[in-house]
Amino acid sequence: MMAEVNNIPHIGNIVGSHLPADIFARFLRIMEEEVVFVGGTDEHGSPTEVAAFKEGLEPKELCDRLFKVHKKIYDWLGISYDNFSRTSTKINHELTKEIFLKLIKKKLIVKKKILLPYCENDKRFLPDRWVEGICPYCNYESARGDQCEACTKLLEPSQLIEPRCVICNRKPIFKEVEHLFLDLKKVEKKLKKWIEKNKHWKKNVRSIALSWIKEGLKERCITRDLKWGIKVPLKGFEDKVFYCWFDAPIGYISSTIEWSIKNGKGDEWIKFWKNKDSKIFHFLGKDNIPFHTILWPAILIGIGEYNLPYQVVGMEFLNYEGRKISKSKNWGIFLDVENEEVVVKIGEKNIKLNPDFLRFYLSYIMPETKDSNFSLEDFKNRVNGELVDNFGNLAYRVLTFIKTRFDSRVPISKELNKKDEKVLKEIKKVKENVKKKILNLNFKDALKNILQLSDYGNKYFQEKSPWKEFSKDLESCKATLFVSACLVKALAILLYPFIPFSSEKVLNQLNYKEIKFENVDKFDLGNHLIGEIEPIFKKLEAV
Ligand SMILES: [Zn+2]
Ligand SMILES: [Zn+2]
Repeated sequence: MMAEVNNIPHIGNIVGSHLPADIFARFLRIMEEEVVFVGGTDEHGSPTEVAAFKEGLEPKELCDRLFKVHKKIYDWLGISYDNFSRTSTKINHELTKEIFLKLIKKKLIVKKKILLPYCENDKRFLPDRWVEGICPYCNYESARGDQCEACTKLLEPSQLIEPRCVICNRKPIFKEVEHLFLDLKKVEKKLKKWIEKNKHWKKNVRSIALSWIKEGLKERCITRDLKWGIKVPLKGFEDKVFYCWFDAPIGYISSTIEWSIKNGKGDEWIKFWKNKDSKIFHFLGKDNIPFHTILWPAILIGIGEYNLPYQVVGMEFLNYEGRKISKSKNWGIFLDVENEEVVVKIGEKNIKLNPDFLRFYLSYIMPETKDSNFSLEDFKNRVNGELVDNFGNLAYRVLTFIKTRFDSRVPISKELNKKDEKVLKEIKKVKENVKKKILNLNFKDALKNILQLSDYGNKYFQEKSPWKEFSKDLESCKATLFVSACLVKALAILLYPFIPFSSEKVLNQLNYKEIKFENVDKFDLGNHLIGEIEPIFKKLEAV
């Protein structure tokens, strides 16, 4: 996903793209699949130019600063991008121009005169987003000139009813200017066939894509009257730049190329973007579904060289305490960087937070099929109840027991009874379920399945009470600890895509280095020497 550089991420942005993509990438890596996970900041476009103007900066200066903020936040959260790039890189400039020229060759670019909003009061053309008005489709009263947030329809400013300039609230006039358009009509048939073929897409994604096709595709403007952006390499249009939706997705390819170069991998990016066996996954919020199922594939179909997305994962929206997250109303949980440190902001407060707690709860409530809600009370209860008490305590108790009673060596068990065997069977079962669910992109269910296994393990440990067995039946006690250690290892590996920092902490304490999915049900810990122990989590205090 390309993150809009001006939008310092909040929990909704995290859960909409970066986190699910990271869970998936981490899972594929421990499955030992070949994976490259790329993203970057989407830096062009009017919001950046206007924001820089307001701060008295050059857009590049603003983007340099904001890029670092984004990068720091994703690093803090453990979003394991193989390459996090920017749409303003030289590679992306060149590739965008190259792709544009290919589209011209294929006769997919047309010139058209359009009416653009111009504010006579502010004496400037108004970028799409600086015009608001009533949505012609759903009557939402604050629809932006580029898209209606309420119904996700893409708009042109001239479609808005009662348009107003966002700067001065006056009614803009419309002036005629010539611009370049991507002729979607010419690829409509192919696009439709391709969308219909993608039966593995989620319902919400397919239905949004198909409703676009059903309405009939129109030409889509790809140029803008701005200075900050990728210059259009065509006579008569030198003073224009590409609209950021055109160059932002091309940034996915550019970021992969950059990754190849940085890592001395030559042309390895080609394998991902052109090899028929590779699969492209996009993770994004539902407002970005049309871009990734219609416009971006239209470009790719148009030039016919690169792989089309295999899967477009469009997350529904996340609310905060029952209401839409809003930066301007300071409603939500926002991440930022202050004095070089990542801070989590709730209202006026900065709070200290274990990034895994945020990852855990966001995964727990992930809006996969319908909108969901972040509630602080629920956040605290789930984290303390289902992560700290359930998994954290189990791991700590088991490891401490092995350390104090068995001199830090997982006992070898001569004989397992039915209860012990059942736990190992459960591990195998959950492993298969989790694999199936994650590959089906049902992350929330996968996580719940893992937590059930942990819960089951706690009950088993309590029931067998090894602290009693130790003096009464040492062999059974050994079996309990052997099985429990295998279970802790399994849980830590299964949880790795969701809470990587804590998972690694547990595996370190267990002195188990190989985080591979196939090791989940390798019961290979007999006589294994564990490492130093400490509590896994500190409980989440009131936030
Ligand atoms: Zn609308
Ligand atoms: Zn104005």
